[in-house]
Amino acid sequence: MWSRFASMRTLVNMECMQGEQMRAWNVQDAVSEVRPGVFFVQGPASNWAIFTEAASPRFTLIDSGYPGDRELLLASMEHIGVKLADCAALLVTHGHSDHIGSAAFLAAQGIPVYAHELELANVRREVMEQITVKDLGLRALAPRVLAWAIHAIRAGGLSDVAVPSVQPLNESALVSLPGELSAVHTGGHTTGHTAYLDPKRGVLVCGDVLISGHAISPVRGPQLLPEPFHFAAATVFAAAAGLPWEDFTCLLPGHGPWLDLPEGLAAEGIRSGDYWPFGTPSGRG
Ligand SMILES: [Zn+2]
Repeated sequence: MWSRFASMRTLVNMECMQGEQMRAWNVQDAVSEVRPGVFFVQGPASNWAIFTEAASPRFTLIDSGYPGDRELLLASMEHIGVKLADCAALLVTHGHSDHIGSAAFLAAQGIPVYAHELELANVRREVMEQITVKDLGLRALAPRVLAWAIHAIRAGGLSDVAVPSVQPLNESALVSLPGELSAVHTGGHTTGHTAYLDPKRGVLVCGDVLISGHAISPVRGPQLLPEPFHFAAATVFAAAAGLPWEDFTCLLPGHGPWLDLPEGLAAEGIRSGDYWPFGTPSGRG
C-alpha cells in the first residue's frame, strides 16, 4: 500500500494557498505543465487537468471547476493552445458542483461526459452526497469557512449542475482518449469517487480523496478534507492509502497545488483535516 515510504519530500510547486488564490487568479500562474503534455490548472477554489497527446490536437479534460469558472476554464484551454472543439471527453472524479460546474455546458457542445457508474446519480443530481452550507451550522461562521462559503455561492455552487447525459466509464472509451487513462475507483469522498491514472507519464488525478490545500484549511501539504466534507469519512484515509502509489510520481489533487512525489509519500505525512472548527482547537491539523 504505502510501499514508497521514504522520508516525505513533498515539493509544493505553487506557494499560494487556494484561499489566497481566490482573490487573484491569472492564467499564467494557474497553469502548470507538470509532465510533457499534461497540464494542471489550479482554479480559484478547485482544480482541473488537461491531458494532451503528441501529434494530435485532441485532449482529455478531467473535472471542470465551479459553474462560475467557465471563462477561466476556457482561458486555460486557450493558454495551453487547445480548442474546445478538440476536447475528446470530460472525465469526472465526482459529482460535486465545484468539479462538474461546466459539465452540462461541455455536454451541450457534444463532448461526452463520463463518471464511474456508482457516481452517475450524483452527476445527474438524483442524489446529493455533498455538504451544504446548512449542514455546516455554526461552523460556517468561522472566518475561513465563511470566506469559502461566500466564494462557493458566488461561483455558482448552488446552481443546477446536473448532467443527465453523463455516461458510465468503460474501458474501451478510456483507452481511446488522450492520456490512455485508467480509472481508479476510490469511493470515500462520494460513493463513486474516482481517480485517473496516466501510467506512461506517472500522473494521478486524485480528486478530493487527498488534497494539498483548501480555502478552509490553515495548512498546506498532503491532507484530508475535514470529515463533514466526505460522504463516507471513515473510509477516506484507506481510500487515500489505496491509491496506486507505485504507479505515479506526480499527484494532481482536486484542491491545492500539484505535488511532485519522486520518492513517494509516507502515510504519516498526510494531515488529518481535524482542525478548528471541524475538530478541537488543538486538533492534529
Ligand atoms: Zn468534492
